[in-house]
Amino acid sequence: MLRSKRVALVMGVLAALSVAVLAGDGFGFKCEDKDCGFKTTVVFGGGMLFEQATGWCHRCKKFQSVNWTRKGAPAAKVVPPPPPLAEVWNPGLGEVRNIYKCPGCGGGFMEVRKPGELTHCPACAKPGFKVDPDAPRLAVD
Ligand SMILES: [Zn+2]
Ligand SMILES: [Zn+2]
Repeated sequence: MLRSKRVALVMGVLAALSVAVLAGDGFGFKCEDKDCGFKTTVVFGGGMLFEQATGWCHRCKKFQSVNWTRKGAPAAKVVPPPPPLAEVWNPGLGEVRNIYKCPGCGGGFMEVRKPGELTHCPACAKPGFKVDPDAPRLAVD
């Protein structure tokens, strides 16, 4: 009886740890324009077991993402990385970014790798789309 209790405790601690380790970063974004005020959560990078590419789909009018198994992750079912539709040089960043097929509409979205790459509101196109300091930062499995 005692032994199984201890195992349960250890399992609980492990579960809590793995949530922290496996988590990706979700940021609450908000448009500073008073008339727009568009808000959304954007998750970057995926977790320890999977990688994720996220971007705004202008056809779906929302952030879309594709996931695949991180290389070397102990996954039961390995999802291979989706081949990008194209690799393009982003003039605003001076870096190459992938265009992935949108799982929602079959169109394309350009990956956004970190919060600082989002500068303009996807809803109203005005500058001032920023991480909302009041929004909780989310850990996503
Ligand atoms: Zn789409
Ligand atoms: Zn806006």
